[in-house]
Amino acid sequence: MSKKYVYLFSEGNASMRELLGGKGANLAEMSNIGLPVPQGFTITTEACTQYYEDGRRINDEIMSEIMKNVETMEQINGKKFGDLANPLLVSVRSGARASMPGMMDTILNLGLNDDVVAAMIKGNPDPKFERFVYDSYRRFIQMFSDVVMEVGKKYFEQLIDQMKERKGVVYDVDLTAADLKELAEQFKAEYKKQIGENFPSDPKVQLYEAIRAVFRSWDNPRANVYRRDNDIPYSWGTAVNVMPMVFGNLNENSGTGVAFTRDPATGEKKLMGEFLTNAQGEDVVAGVRTPMPISQMEEKFPEAYKQFVEVCGILENHYRDMQDMEFTVENGKLYMLQCRSGKRTAQAALKIACDLVDEGMIDEKKAVLMIDPRNLDTLLHPQFDAKALKAATPIGKGLGASPGAACGKVVFSAEDAKAWAERKEKVVLVRLETSPEDIEGMKAAQGILTVRGGMTSHAAVVARGMGKCCVSGCGEIKMDEENKKFELAGKTYREGDYISIDGSTGKIYDGIIPTVDATIAGEFGRIMGWADKYRRLGRQGP
Ligand code: ADP
Ligand code: MG
Repeated sequence: MSKKYVYLFSEGNASMRELLGGKGANLAEMSNIGLPVPQGFTITTEACTQYYEDGRRINDEIMSEIMKNVETMEQINGKKFGDLANPLLVSVRSGARASMPGMMDTILNLGLNDDVVAAMIKGNPDPKFERFVYDSYRRFIQMFSDVVMEVGKKYFEQLIDQMKERKGVVYDVDLTAADLKELAEQFKAEYKKQIGENFPSDPKVQLYEAIRAVFRSWDNPRANVYRRDNDIPYSWGTAVNVMPMVFGNLNENSGTGVAFTRDPATGEKKLMGEFLTNAQGEDVVAGVRTPMPISQMEEKFPEAYKQFVEVCGILENHYRDMQDMEFTVENGKLYMLQCRSGKRTAQAALKIACDLVDEGMIDEKKAVLMIDPRNLDTLLHPQFDAKALKAATPIGKGLGASPGAACGKVVFSAEDAKAWAERKEKVVLVRLETSPEDIEGMKAAQGILTVRGGMTSHAAVVARGMGKCCVSGCGEIKMDEENKKFELAGKTYREGDYISIDGSTGKIYDGIIPTVDATIAGEFGRIMGWADKYRRLGRQGP
């Protein structure tokens, strides 16, 4: 019998993470417990390994299994690739066994081409819908080119900037349908110029290229750095998830969000998250626009919000752990796009483990196992001296995205952070926003301060993973990255000036505030007590 390389979501479950990757296994699990998940399939990590064994090629057997599953997906969803009445659009998403946020590549809106776009617009003459279609199209060409053909983001960003300048607008959302249509044409021309071939219009060809790109992205430099830092073996490979698109950018009655069932910084039991109306997933995660807190979603989307709160309860009960989720609301209806056990600070890990025991969700042994000993040392990171802190006046405030205290000299790029740190300088990396290319610089810095982005922005997520202090989304900063300076509270800060940041409160201070060692909270003692108890019981065993 030959190996099975592709699983519909309905054929998988959470225990299959080695084969389906974390994202795929959890999409299958969510779908099996009845949560609203767009129905697609997962190509296994073994298919990825096979791709490398076959000399970076998807062999015919695997390709035909993928195409069979495309047909099944078309039937389940009542839509077809390239169909003019009911076109199927999909996302192609990487997903390794261990979560690697933002490390590999995702393509959205795959399946669009000139004919499909024209048919969609013909079927719905609303000018806002036309704008949505062209926005989706230009995003797809942009992502496909960038990811699949490695054309480089900057060409497309330049074209967008030129268009905005020509139209005299500041934000993407102010571009009209006609502007976006023109952009899509420009993007295709750029693609042809760079690659020497026409942009592929056949959705099946698009899919094939996209899957190859995800397999290839397993081996890209930033994924390799992340794996090295997180002890993830190269041999694991990544799975690929193919699933129908839902559109948070359809209209004002749509949006997209990310949320945690508990506070990932403190562990407090309350829904934490962010939501952007009329936006597609990547807008939130990329931290390009600063989103609204999830509580405001309740006002705008009462029905979907209610349903989402229910889903959070179901997921926590099911997984018995704090969950990190991605979701989208299309025309008022909720769809779940991802869930996983949420990354958290050491402090939050202790609180959540103790709370789950008190709530009767887990036993003491499980609580001990939930604490990653490697993270406990972050509890011993310095905090600001309380007296000095009281005396200091903040010059600004962002979001307390990852706790701890940091002070150092301002630098404006990851390269500078690394170079200065190598000279034994303590630095705070200040950026508009961070991206995966900044990881080495973030590691070298004492702390990270960003102008844009929320609690789930790249900077925040990565900093929490590193146990590094981070303040994100300080919109008061007037940033001039190019000239290595920023303005805050009426003062200009240049490279080398001292600032201090507090990752718990989000406050920013001028100059140096002395730090002291952290005190350890009560939960630490409780968990250590349980650890001792079970270690001793273990020793008495046979
Ligand atoms: P990452 O691992 O970087 O989070 P994802 O594969 O999760 O990448 O996708 C990036 C973004 O695209 C997420 O915000 C996700 O919610 C969104 N997205 C992925 N698939 C779909 C889909 N089928 N419909 C709508 N949004 C999607
Ligand atoms: Mg994701």
